[in-house]
Amino acid sequence: MNRHDQLLDAARRRLIQNYRQAPIILTRGEGAYVWDVRGHRYLDMTAGIAVCCLGHSHPKLSVAIALQAGRLIHGSNLYFIEEQLLLAEALTARSFADRVFFCNSGGEANEAALKLARRYQQVVAKKPEKITIVSAEGSFHGRTIATVSITGQEKYRKNFGPMFGPTKFVPFGDVEAMRAALADGTACAVILEPIQAEGGIIVPPPGYLQAVKEACVATGTMLIFDEVQTGVGRTGTLWGHEQEGVTPDLMTLAKGLAGGVPIGALLATDEAAEGFVPGAGEAVTHASTFGGNALACAAALTVLDVIEEESLLANCREAGEYLGRALDKLVEKYANVAVESRGRGLLRGLAVKSDAPAIVAACRDKGMLVSVAGPSTVRFVPPLLVKREQIDEAVEILGGVLAARKP
Ligand code: PLP
Repeated sequence: MNRHDQLLDAARRRLIQNYRQAPIILTRGEGAYVWDVRGHRYLDMTAGIAVCCLGHSHPKLSVAIALQAGRLIHGSNLYFIEEQLLLAEALTARSFADRVFFCNSGGEANEAALKLARRYQQVVAKKPEKITIVSAEGSFHGRTIATVSITGQEKYRKNFGPMFGPTKFVPFGDVEAMRAALADGTACAVILEPIQAEGGIIVPPPGYLQAVKEACVATGTMLIFDEVQTGVGRTGTLWGHEQEGVTPDLMTLAKGLAGGVPIGALLATDEAAEGFVPGAGEAVTHASTFGGNALACAAALTVLDVIEEESLLANCREAGEYLGRALDKLVEKYANVAVESRGRGLLRGLAVKSDAPAIVAACRDKGMLVSVAGPSTVRFVPPLLVKREQIDEAVEILGGVLAARKP
């Protein structure tokens, strides 16, 4: 058996079978390309699912991680960690937030947001009746029990009950439905993605997030923006909500924040942050063993620096518009298979009439990695430093795949 087959055999025998991986084994990457163990090269328009914002093996990120690994990887939150404090300063200087809690993933950041919001309402606002979490249909917030409970897609919740609750789901983009959900005054928090990503790259109508914020303020409901996928430059501004002229009480981050090193963060205003306290002699209200460790924070600090040094927000906007226009043309040309191109910055989707997974597989066979978002959307989330030539290459591959498909 060759190496590729041996490893696939190990995967079949030794992994819990929760994933449906494509049969390639990635072994190295550079910029917007990755290679598998057989030496096949792929143009990477997935970037580890919107994670590798600096592409693969960015020299500054690799060096920063290596240097930090040689100095201190982990010290625990029993003590202060220099890189964590610097990162908290960097994130608050660049956002609405005053304070940060660090963890290791998007699901964990959303868990932290839910706990903070609940405790804020119960202890700080003294409104114990405000317990309902309001979320949007089609949303995605993670895979833990609480985060699947607030995810507005039944398929992620099925057979895992009972769920965390109470929850209410409202159609995404519908202001009246949101107002109605908040009207009885029992909502603890509203959680929304500024652009729904896993749900199929759905951009809400202009003014929606602002109107939701007003409804939250009027009813004493906390507003959480889940920017796990839209954050860290993905939509062309550092945070997705910036383009909507509205700020939340809480924001969650993960994915691109440390360019591929696991990290999650909950950002909060001073007021909202009062929901967590260390406790007097009792257990602290929230904690994480690994959260904010020196290695992950050093990586994240480097990501923020490189985004600025290399003008990656501007590149994201330009490359994103270029990609959006190219996808629009594919919709015109292949109207028998493609329905619509959606998105902002480098969070883009091509909605297709049928079988997005088959299109993704065909693209992979032709040397390009894309993924699905929702049942019928092909998702493009390339590194923020992707070049026009690489987008041309991607669109040519996708065009070839669409041309070969029957209506
Ligand atoms: N929230 C959003 C908007 C996401 O897109 C994701 C992951 O895709 C998550 C939360 C969960 O993040 P993680 O897989 O890091 O737990």
